[in-house]
Amino acid sequence: MIDVRGLRKSFGKNLVLDGVDLQVEQGDVVAVIGPSGSGKSTLLRCLNLLEEPDGGTITINDVTVNPPRYTAKEAHALRQQTAMVFQSYNLFRNKTALQNVTEALVVGKKMPRKEADETGRRLLTRVGLSEDTIQQYPITLSGGQQQRVSIARALAVRPKAILLDEPTSALDPELVNEVLAVIRTLAQEHTTMVIVTHEMAFAAEVADRVVFMDGGSVVEAGPPSQVLAAPRHERTRRFLRELG
Ligand code: ADP
Ligand code: MG
Repeated sequence: MIDVRGLRKSFGKNLVLDGVDLQVEQGDVVAVIGPSGSGKSTLLRCLNLLEEPDGGTITINDVTVNPPRYTAKEAHALRQQTAMVFQSYNLFRNKTALQNVTEALVVGKKMPRKEADETGRRLLTRVGLSEDTIQQYPITLSGGQQQRVSIARALAVRPKAILLDEPTSALDPELVNEVLAVIRTLAQEHTTMVIVTHEMAFAAEVADRVVFMDGGSVVEAGPPSQVLAAPRHERTRRFLRELG
């Protein structure tokens, strides 16, 4: 489903992705872990060209781009394949929960309003929001509710894969589990996901593969039983030890 080869990205003199390879099978959940600054967010942002890679190849579903040379049409086609969930939710503040989910359907996909509303309600119910919560503005919702709206919004465009960048890191501890529960359900339904997370127990539970990054490179990748339970590399061991 996702095949990334030799992805490179620098910010000025700062080499942030140093030839990253990433493969994700359809229906799999891949957890990306690693220290702060190791390039995890940049990797996700390169997958939908929120950042412009300097080199490498990105294939998602049946779309391939070869940075730094790609057309606007190719970029558009690649972006259509994924949807992103951010740490900070990034909801439209002036739209209700329902409008946040239906916006891309009505404006982007030209779906009739009534059909978009039905889809939005169904998705927001699926992530556990009540009927009255659906009509509220983000500011009146808890962080956990906002992030669940953000996940519903990502699902609405029926992406081939969902990219989640530390989806629970901004949440108060008591709200983390309600968001993890939604992601767990998506994983059980074989939604293809790449999730950057510091929740190691969760990664061990839901991930089919774990990718450990350090200094812009993939140090180690494999099933959680290897990378988390029996890491081969000292850097992975040190990282896990320091997490406690
Ligand atoms: P992580 O998500 O693993 O914490 P990031 O991908 O956010 O790491 O950042 C990797 C490196 O790239 C860091 O050194 C960070 O300062 C740098 N970086 C990220 N985004 C930008 C940007 N837009 N401009 C300049 N430097 C950036
Ligand atoms: Mg990050």
